[in-house]
Amino acid sequence: MKKIGLFGGTFDPPHNGHLHIARAFADELGLDMVVFLPAGDPYHKEESTRTPAKHRLAMTELAVAADSRFAVSDCDIVREGATYTFDTVQIFRQQFPSAQLWWLLGSDSLLKLHTWKKWQTLVKQTHIAVAGRSGGNIAQAPQELQSWLGQALQNGSLKPLQAPLCDISSTEIRRRLHNGETAAGLIDGCVEAYIRQHGLYR
Ligand code: ATP
Repeated sequence: MKKIGLFGGTFDPPHNGHLHIARAFADELGLDMVVFLPAGDPYHKEESTRTPAKHRLAMTELAVAADSRFAVSDCDIVREGATYTFDTVQIFRQQFPSAQLWWLLGSDSLLKLHTWKKWQTLVKQTHIAVAGRSGGNIAQAPQELQSWLGQALQNGSLKPLQAPLCDISSTEIRRRLHNGETAAGLIDGCVEAYIRQHGLYR
């Protein structure tokens, strides 16, 4: 059976932490493919300082060249209105009816899972794999998630990644670039060149 990892994020910009965990997820879970899904432009544009989706998509395309198992989909960018993970998973389920789907995320995101649309149905329709991240201690999960977490860890529908933590964030990279500091070693060289060429994060 084909195993597909779906990896949603803002990717503003995509960094080596994303690549590190995507590679580890693919290795540890035996995934055939990891699909990076950059989020679209915000629904209420005036409320956000997010980099336009076309740039985040282009940077993610450059970053995923690092591994032949990686791919990018614009499915969360081209959809109109608010985009929910629940709907994204339905789209991939229709496209790959017999595949095993895994939703990949960091532990900081997992702790907010109970705020996602139809999360209780979502966790029955896809496996979830979580990468540890400082500031995202699963043992301190909110009450709403606790009983599901216990069960899911036990029955294998939630898998914690074994790979060591990787302390990189897009926030820190944006801060560095904004201050004229280097982000070398934190982002792929092609992504760095794209950022320079387009004058992003100044
Ligand atoms: P920002 O700093 O802007 O919040 P980010 O670094 O968290 O960005 P996102 O694109 O928002 O990057 O992350 C996409 C997904 O990858 C999320 O589920 C997030 O938890 C996870 N993630 C990102 N970086 C790491 C990391 N270094 N270790 C583990 N998970 C990560």
